[in-house]
Amino acid sequence: MKRSLLLFSHQLHPLYIERANLDKKTDEIIFIDSQDQWTRYQFHLQRLVLHFSAVSHRIEELKKDGWQVRLIETQTFEEALLKFKVITCFTPTNFYEQDWIQKHPNIQRLVDPLFLISPEEWMQLLPIQKTWKLDPIYQQFRKRFSILMNGDKPIGDRYSFDAENRQGPTKDLSFQQPIWFKPDSLTKSIMQMISKRFANHPGKLDSFAYPVTRIQALEALHHFLKTRLATFGTHQDAMMQNDPWMSHSLISSSLNIGLLSPMEVIEAAEKTYQKGIAPLAATEGFIRQILGWREYIRGVYLVMGPDYLKVNHFQHQMPLPNFYYDAKTDMHCLKSTIQETIDHGYNHHIQRLMVLSNYANLAEVSPQAVNRWFNEMYIDSSEWVVAANVLGMGLHADGGKMATKPYISSGAYLHKMSNYCESCPYQVKLKTGEKACPFNSLYWHYIDEKSSKLSRNPRMSMMVNVLEKMPKTEKDLLIKQAKRHLDSKR
Ligand code: SF4
Repeated sequence: MKRSLLLFSHQLHPLYIERANLDKKTDEIIFIDSQDQWTRYQFHLQRLVLHFSAVSHRIEELKKDGWQVRLIETQTFEEALLKFKVITCFTPTNFYEQDWIQKHPNIQRLVDPLFLISPEEWMQLLPIQKTWKLDPIYQQFRKRFSILMNGDKPIGDRYSFDAENRQGPTKDLSFQQPIWFKPDSLTKSIMQMISKRFANHPGKLDSFAYPVTRIQALEALHHFLKTRLATFGTHQDAMMQNDPWMSHSLISSSLNIGLLSPMEVIEAAEKTYQKGIAPLAATEGFIRQILGWREYIRGVYLVMGPDYLKVNHFQHQMPLPNFYYDAKTDMHCLKSTIQETIDHGYNHHIQRLMVLSNYANLAEVSPQAVNRWFNEMYIDSSEWVVAANVLGMGLHADGGKMATKPYISSGAYLHKMSNYCESCPYQVKLKTGEKACPFNSLYWHYIDEKSSKLSRNPRMSMMVNVLEKMPKTEKDLLIKQAKRHLDSKR
């Protein structure tokens, strides 16, 4: 009997074809272009180009290789699925995609080969009633997959070199540029189509140069490992205006649509270390992001279920300020970071956490509005990736399931880890007054507003005590300053 294999636009790796056990002579491969999957969020134009171009290139490759491939265009995904009496697919991680396939009366589901840990195992690893810790889980994975191990001991006698990877930018710091891919004629025609079909979507299109084929993704990975992994570690938490890439790998857009598999990336990074091209601290830090963090945030999403998207521990209700879409703000850290988001659909993890999420959290923006923005604006977004990173880690909206404390900071941290403050009209050392950095008063306003919850958190209670001991006049001035700032943004 003829089999039809459905592939989502994020299931492009050859492993999907291998694992489906298809017969080239009789079976067919199906892709669906349904309007509802592209307008569920108002995706950045470059993210749309990435998905459409990568699928189109994959279809060309598969056809050249002798496969029968069909692209079905419809309004809704379900409508396309119902054209098939029986269909096979790999269970996607996103719950809304699972809902779509569940409604089909006769769908055969296979396990997604592009994750290292199964959903069933995550249920065991993250018991819902207990506190979760990534470190022991990561150590377990290092042993199980024998990554950077010397027998049963970690190479370098430590599992984590995080402490060595936290330096701010130094004067004259610069990095080797990443490799980019000029759009070919197929991508160019897709860029034209996207700019018309999704005319009201955010973001700039002209700089699109991300990998859209597996060959390009592998080239980008090996270029990173050879020339930039060595300098990734030390400054991975630093932020520099006018350098959106620094020494970050930029492979997340390829990983999250299946142009690369996590294990091939991890093994290639380990080989780079073994050849002496990159130091252990940088290699371990890079591998931990994939073997540890990426798998873990998927586990959290799966274990917490669809209701995780509704969490709002602090009951924040404010709308997202407009400047998240047009970068029109005088706060230079936000302006510079958001302009990069608009131009490239990309920021590195510390910009996402300590500039964008930090400000939204201090400004009491609704977690769902922030979550939506992160889903919309990033080249590498997917609901399962964004949920735990933003709601859990970035906003503490899950009340501490993901992170033991809210990741908030005053201007001092941003000043230490970036060079934004040098070009800002505000002065980072001032707490009150017209020229004071808004992060400073917002930070204490946040501690004040949430003191009853934060005083029960061992990692935050000290700051509640500091605020309690602050002279009343100083505290009143700070709170007034923060309120004035918040009112001006509402
Ligand atoms: Fe951001 Fe404050 Fe520095 Fe300005 S002074 S760049 S607002 S941290």
